[in-house]
Formats: sequence, structure tokens, C-alpha cells
Amino acid sequence: MRKHVRFSLNHNAWPTTPDSSPLARYGVVEGEWVYETDSLWDTAGKEGYALSEVRLLPPVCPTKIVCVGRNYVDHAKELGNPVPVEPLIFYKPPSSLIASGDNIVYPSFVGQMSFEGELTLVMGRQARNVAAEDWEQYVYGYTIVNDITARDLQKKDGQWARAKGCDTFCPCGPFIVPRTALHFDDIRIRSWVNGQPKQDGSVRDMIFSPGAIIAYVTQFLTLEPGDIIATGTPPGVGPLEPGDSVKVAIEGIGALENKVIRG
Ligand code: MG
Repeated sequence: MRKHVRFSLNHNAWPTTPDSSPLARYGVVEGEWVYETDSLWDTAGKEGYALSEVRLLPPVCPTKIVCVGRNYVDHAKELGNPVPVEPLIFYKPPSSLIASGDNIVYPSFVGQMSFEGELTLVMGRQARNVAAEDWEQYVYGYTIVNDITARDLQKKDGQWARAKGCDTFCPCGPFIVPRTALHFDDIRIRSWVNGQPKQDGSVRDMIFSPGAIIAYVTQFLTLEPGDIIATGTPPGVGPLEPGDSVKVAIEGIGALENKVIRG
């Protein structure tokens, strides 16, 4: 199965290194190798590098990170929230992106941090006023987001800008797989903290399907190629502490792993 990555040969490259930087490269992964390509969607790789030798970047450089809140009934209930009657949309800023292997920074002003493993749609075309049944034409593929949340600030602030948007609060990756590589109904999202299983959910339990989400969002927002939509988290979320390792895995895409450090 084809897996697209962004990477750098400079291990000090910032996670938010833009596509315009000469430090950012694209590639396709085969086994333990990444073959450089001319653009993110290219399939013909040229020079190969050992995957273990490159610095993975978040697989996209989006203009927007759109997120869906409470898109699984049992997750809404576990936090004592009502089940939404229409998609609950919020944003994470692109500045919050980090790659698999980067550290999540626990800010000093946060009292309770949580993980949320989420299947994430990667837009392949500009999308505006998309009909729900046409969603597949606009989604290039899938990746993973860990929607890191400051749960105390989410309650305290009302607006979720800080609670969802701090630097390092959007681990993303490691890869993008084409939409056609996975059978949507079979997608299973799992997460672990320090090796202990936490979440094990199926996209079949989503309240709003990708089609419903994209139709709703593109009524008010133009999505660009490379923009991503995190589709909400299944139940099982819980706290993270400095020193913890958190992993989110979706079979067929890969595993997104990050460590939490004190800010
Ligand atoms: Mg979430």
C-alpha cells in the first residue's frame, strides 16, 4: 500500500516547516525506506533514504485543521456532554502541528491534558459547497491526528482556542494513505498510554459521516488541497502527564507516537 510522507534530511527542521522551505521534502514509503518524490501526491520515487535516518514532518502543511467535536455518542457521554444534532466544528491552528516522534509540551498553565485519537481526512482538491454523496471526489486520503486537549481550559475558556490550539497539540501522521487503500467501514482507531490500551473504536460508530461533515463544513468554508479534517474521537479518552508516551494507531495507516514533556 502506498504511503506518502513529508520529511527532512535536517533533524533540526521545525515540525511546522512549510512546503515552501527547501528543508521540506516529499516521499513514498516502502518498507523501511522512503523514496523522494517531486510533490506530495507523486508516486514515482527517486533517491531512497532509510526511514530511520530522516526527520519525519507532519504529512501535510495545511491552511486549516478542521475538527469535529463529540462525533461518537459514547465519547460525548463519557464527558457528560449532549450528543450534537449537527456537526460541532472547531479549529486547531497549523502552528500546533508536530510529527510522530516529536514531543507534546504540557504547558505550565494547563491543569488537565487529554489525548484523543482520530481518523483524519486529507483533502485532495479545493472543496466548496460539496454534496454529501460526492465527498470521495474531494478526499485524497487518510492520516491520524491526536487531538490533544487541555480539558480544564476547554471548560474554563468557553472558546476552545487555547484548549485545542497550543503549540504541539496536534500530533499528525506518520503517513497519508490513499482513500482507496482502506475500506472505510473497517477502519478501527486504537490508542495506548505507556503501552496500556485506552481506545478501541470503529468509524461505524461516528454520528456524522465524512460526507455529512464535508457537506456541512464546505457550506461556510473553502477547503484547500492538503487541509485536514479530524473526524472526532471514539470513547476511552483520558489524562496525559509529563513523561507519558501516547500512541494512536489505525491499521493500514500506521502508528502516531509522541512523548509528553513538561513545558
Ligand atoms: Mg477531538
